Amino acid sequence: MKTLFEKIIAREIPATFVYEDELCVAFRDINPCAPMHLLLVPRKPLVQLSSATAEDQALLGHLMLTATKVAAQEGLGEAYRLVVNNGAAAGMSVPHLHLHLIGGRPLKWPPA
Ligand code: 5GP
Repeated sequence: MKTLFEKIIAREIPATFVYEDELCVAFRDINPCAPMHLLLVPRKPLVQLSSATAEDQALLGHLMLTATKVAAQEGLGEAYRLVVNNGAAAGMSVPHLHLHLIGGRPLKWPPA
């Protein structure tokens, strides 16, 4: 069965895409927690970060570097936050690895 994000990637569910390449896509979060809240999602449906193996090393690096590229593209400058929730108890609700790219306002720390 496809994950929600696989359905979005397949355009079966609408989303506002801002970037895509052969390995990943980025689209706007449906419930943004800041003026800019994007989700960066690998096409490969890894359940979560802890599901990744050495085989995914290049993909994980690609996601990080793509996040910087998308942040620049979206005008976030040098101020933004990347979040990966791993596991339901850590706030993960969609079981398909994704990076939250958040910015557009001052961000406090700690986040929770
Ligand atoms: P998680 O809680 O798993 O780290 O993040 C899942 C994110 O997906 C949440 O921020 C939530 O708002 C977002 N989300 C859930 N359903 C949809 C949807 O159908 N479309 C979009 N664009 N975002 C979604």
